[in-house]
Amino acid sequence: VTGKIRLGDVDIFRIEELRHDTGHPRHILAGFGQAEWDRHTRLIPAWDWNERHSSTCMSHQTWVLRSAGKTILIDTSVGNSKPRPAVPPIDNLESSYLDQLGAVGVGPSDVDLVISTHIHVDHVGWNTRLVDGTWVPTFPNARYVLPRPDVVFWDPANDDRFARRGNASMENVFADSVAPVIEAGQAVVWDDEYEIDENITLVARPGHTPGNSIVKLTSAGEQAAFIGDMLHFPVQIAVPSWNTCWCEDPKSASASRVKTLTWAADEGVLLFLAHFGGDHAAEVSRSGSTFDIAAWRPLADSEDVRTAHP
Ligand SMILES: [Zn+2]
Repeated sequence: VTGKIRLGDVDIFRIEELRHDTGHPRHILAGFGQAEWDRHTRLIPAWDWNERHSSTCMSHQTWVLRSAGKTILIDTSVGNSKPRPAVPPIDNLESSYLDQLGAVGVGPSDVDLVISTHIHVDHVGWNTRLVDGTWVPTFPNARYVLPRPDVVFWDPANDDRFARRGNASMENVFADSVAPVIEAGQAVVWDDEYEIDENITLVARPGHTPGNSIVKLTSAGEQAAFIGDMLHFPVQIAVPSWNTCWCEDPKSASASRVKTLTWAADEGVLLFLAHFGGDHAAEVSRSGSTFDIAAWRPLADSEDVRTAHP
């Protein structure tokens, strides 16, 4: 049971692995101001806010696409049995992710492509699974498409080349979730722009991480984009200067956010986020440099989906 929508010739499913509280926004959003937050309560939907704990909430999910005869996963969430000492909500998680994929008809061997919008702990987890004490690719027939600047940035071999903000949360991640797919010969590493098929192209939008990217979808007159962590919370649409504490290069992260929102508003591009909860995508509008949500588009193309309540 999951959100589903068809855009042009592409079917899109949402697989949510988990949702958890992430604390008061002042701990997450750089430059956070309570007055500004309060001005935009309309952009703080119920799935994004736990009133009882005055806490933001985040979903971790994968977008499953059927495009040009292929099965494609965009970001692989957290994964099972992974030691994440600095991130308690996802430390040694055991989820029903593979069963959820199965429920939309996708078995591990059916996956043709795994796209990572960027390399972060909660985007590459199901790249691998533990079999007899060894991390092996979860999807044996897939190519894993990874942005080169992130592969270089997070490789422990380059520890002395980079001062990284995310070192603590990224402990073990390269070794258990990235290196095994490279060693298996299943990785495709790209720069700048990479065409997946006639509907889908990857484009670099650095800042959140050096290799941060978006997935553009154009099919039969429909335009959408899977923009990963360009936004963690809808309120950042109104205040795009608010980066999260997880953005490696705040200045470029903010510039990439404004560039992406401007493009989406001007071209009518439907936006799918990695961490928004609820079964819907976002249509954005702008007036000059002020952005807003024009509408939430429900992912309700099938009869058995949850009703969307933004
Ligand atoms: Zn993320």
